[in-house]
Amino acid sequence: MCTVFPLGRTFPTVDPRTGEVIARVAEGDAEDINRAVAAARRAFDEGPWPRMTAYERCRVLLRFADLIEQHNDEIAALESWDGGKPLEQSAGAEVPMAARCMRYYAGWADKIHGMVVPADGPHHVQVLREPIGVAGQIIPWNFPLLMFAWKVGPALACGNAVVLKTAEQTPLSALYVASLLHEAGLPEGVLNVVPGFGPTAGAALCSHMGVDKLAFTGSTGTGKIILELAARSNLKPVTLELGGKSPFIVMDDADVDQAVELAHRAIFFNQGQCCCAGSRTFVHESVYDEFVEKSKARAQRRVVGDPFKKGVEQGPQIDGQQFKKILGYVKSGVDSGATLVTGGDRLGSRGFYVQPTVFADVEDEMKIAKEEIFGPIQSILKFRDVGEVVRRANATQYGLAAGVFTGSLDTANAVARALRVGTVWVNCYDVFDAAIPFGGYKMSGVGREKGPYSLGNYLQTKAVVAPLRDPAW
Ligand code: ADP
Repeated sequence: MCTVFPLGRTFPTVDPRTGEVIARVAEGDAEDINRAVAAARRAFDEGPWPRMTAYERCRVLLRFADLIEQHNDEIAALESWDGGKPLEQSAGAEVPMAARCMRYYAGWADKIHGMVVPADGPHHVQVLREPIGVAGQIIPWNFPLLMFAWKVGPALACGNAVVLKTAEQTPLSALYVASLLHEAGLPEGVLNVVPGFGPTAGAALCSHMGVDKLAFTGSTGTGKIILELAARSNLKPVTLELGGKSPFIVMDDADVDQAVELAHRAIFFNQGQCCCAGSRTFVHESVYDEFVEKSKARAQRRVVGDPFKKGVEQGPQIDGQQFKKILGYVKSGVDSGATLVTGGDRLGSRGFYVQPTVFADVEDEMKIAKEEIFGPIQSILKFRDVGEVVRRANATQYGLAAGVFTGSLDTANAVARALRVGTVWVNCYDVFDAAIPFGGYKMSGVGREKGPYSLGNYLQTKAVVAPLRDPAW
């Protein structure tokens, strides 16, 4: 079965609509990580999972995807309750995307091939791809279910065992779907979910000598700590999906109304809590004033409220800490001389709701243009020519994603090649199919997830070399 650790100490998980406690959840610490890793080691070293046929593994994962779909409504409700995101988005996008991701990797399970290498000399050389072992995975709170799928899908398809730590703010959906994976037929100890805190459970997982690989999604600061813990312990390889300050570039030939709508979604989606949020809206000077006016009107039309109500586009921020941090950035924007076009305050007096906020006249050196805010704050910057905007778009420590909005294919192609980012969306944004690789240049990450690229993160490569003798006949 999927082991869910531990029993004993608990911590509260909170409803961001009200700040009230939803439930108390078992709190894993270093000792629980030891037990989870031991269970995963046993499952990997002695259990049936890595020894099953790949087709059998494929079928377990396909059954799991079916179960996710059958329980769509319950999972979506947990995701919205724990994380504050509109139910329509959880039910219509996040849960179906998680099922799609599991099916995508189920399909890969029996398509992972080795090779025969034509090396020089009389040798028969095979290259085998083997599971890497016990994978430690740490996920964030902004897309808890989807991050579970991106991490667990490829790891299990390749035949590994997993210890996964959920984010302290959002433990519920992963615990629920872990029980579905059990129901789908996953053998005992193959998946171990440990809810708990970063510096205790998370750090123990990163430092553990029995863990063969780490995958992390979260902030750049925490990513650095994780890489260090991995290096200091057993040099386990690490993939990191970290922060961003992604440019969304609106060229002078763009349809302004469409560009306004897309730029709006690029920054405000998921309450602005996306690592790839289009958080620097660069607009050509010839359409700038019109763009700012229309962006203001769009932000003011944005429907903010209880995420369980129909038609709501934006729910509360995840918790009080993020809420305060976001309002601190609003103050910084005003203090540094940006024009506050709309919003800028909390909404209502209860929960963690923030008004959709638009700043114009933002300059590259301002904190709101440099640091990741992770909130519903749009910063609109002006540019004159394409070379200039590409230079400015690239002048950041991050390199996760970018959007380019233009009517010219030539401009789109040239700019896409010039941007130092892991994803460029042309005339679209936030397209996340399981088959499309995702990850960052520079301090936005190490490695790629999704598509076939994730498989390499969870496989070892073994060369088997044997002499080829002249036949005796
Ligand atoms: P945020 O600041 O947005 O919460 P983090 O990067 O701190 O983002 O959190 C993402 C995940 O990393 C969470 O699961 C969190 O518990 C975990 N985490 C935080 N600090 C550490 C740490 N020192 N070691 C391991 N994991 C950590």
